[in-house]
Amino acid sequence: MARPLVASIDLDAILYNYQFAKKLQPSCKAFAVVKSNAYGHGAVAVSRHLDEQVDAFAVATIEEAIELREADVKSPIMLLEGVFEQSEWALCEQYGFWAAIENEQQLSWLIECQVNIEKVFVKLDSGMHRLGVDKTTVNDFVVRLRQSGLVDQVLLMTHFSCADDLSDMTTMEQLAYFESARRDIGEIDASVANSAAIMKWSVPEGGWIRPGIMLYGISPFAGVPGVQLGLKPAMTLTSKIISVRHLQKGDQVGYGRTYQAGEAHQLATVAVGYGDGYPRVTENGAPLKVSGQSAHLAGRVSMDMITVRLTPSSDLVMEAGQEVVLWGGDVPVEEVADYAGTIGYEVVTRMTSRPHYHYF
Ligand code: PLP
Repeated sequence: MARPLVASIDLDAILYNYQFAKKLQPSCKAFAVVKSNAYGHGAVAVSRHLDEQVDAFAVATIEEAIELREADVKSPIMLLEGVFEQSEWALCEQYGFWAAIENEQQLSWLIECQVNIEKVFVKLDSGMHRLGVDKTTVNDFVVRLRQSGLVDQVLLMTHFSCADDLSDMTTMEQLAYFESARRDIGEIDASVANSAAIMKWSVPEGGWIRPGIMLYGISPFAGVPGVQLGLKPAMTLTSKIISVRHLQKGDQVGYGRTYQAGEAHQLATVAVGYGDGYPRVTENGAPLKVSGQSAHLAGRVSMDMITVRLTPSSDLVMEAGQEVVLWGGDVPVEEVADYAGTIGYEVVTRMTSRPHYHYF
């Protein structure tokens, strides 16, 4: 029998979340951000399912974009960070990709290559200080691109550093900086909003939104799971108990013996580990469900297994073969991420190819 670890991906939930994003910003077109293997959900399967419903996809690398085209994905695909080598511009023309431009080299490579690109998004550094050009240079980029005759439409984009924190006014400052650069340029379409901005900030009318994490039903906001925001979580990770034993008070469990039984209780071993993407740093106490009953991690995560116990109020008798929900349903992945000291983004993106992926 196959190892019972299954990542079930609800493709219609992803479509629902995409449409939800568009309803929140009805004047905008929307990229479906499917970089990093669609945040661990499977870029080809997700993109094929969404292909006829989306305005465009967005990825981080040309390899990700080519993988989708070669899987027969027809919608426009945008490279969020632009090209890393001059030769990529020819591939952009060949495959019909759109791209961001965030530095002088990317711009001069494009002009040297004399390739035709349908849409180029000039990236403005409005305060994140990671990529992009500032207000004093951005107009020159737009003018040179327009004068090159190589690009059908030039747009202006930026990225927020703190949109997930509603008490941080940096987003307003970034928006004001963006709008002032935009006024200096004149007529130009905009793209500013990631998931957090789409859901909670007021973003410019028209142009393009860029929902990523919300497509997968996961919240960008600390302490608020996606379901509470009206999203449908797309991934459920389930496995089964493969072994059960009885611990005596004082018994210690797993590598480093980091869990010690405070009283006699059952301990179950479950087929999932960090080799599958379950975060190794997750602390004792991380929530899960065994046959629908509340349980939690007890002991360190191994490469292929975890050990779990029921919460003391449960009267279930654990047995090999019982189903375990690692996340999904009423175990929000955001909560598991909290126990791992990270965010939902990282937990799903780190999923490996080892679990069985089931799409429905
Ligand atoms: N736009 C850009 C430029 C990004 O880098 C990302 C993701 O990191 C997104 C949009 C999507 O962000 P989120 O997943 O927070 O919606």
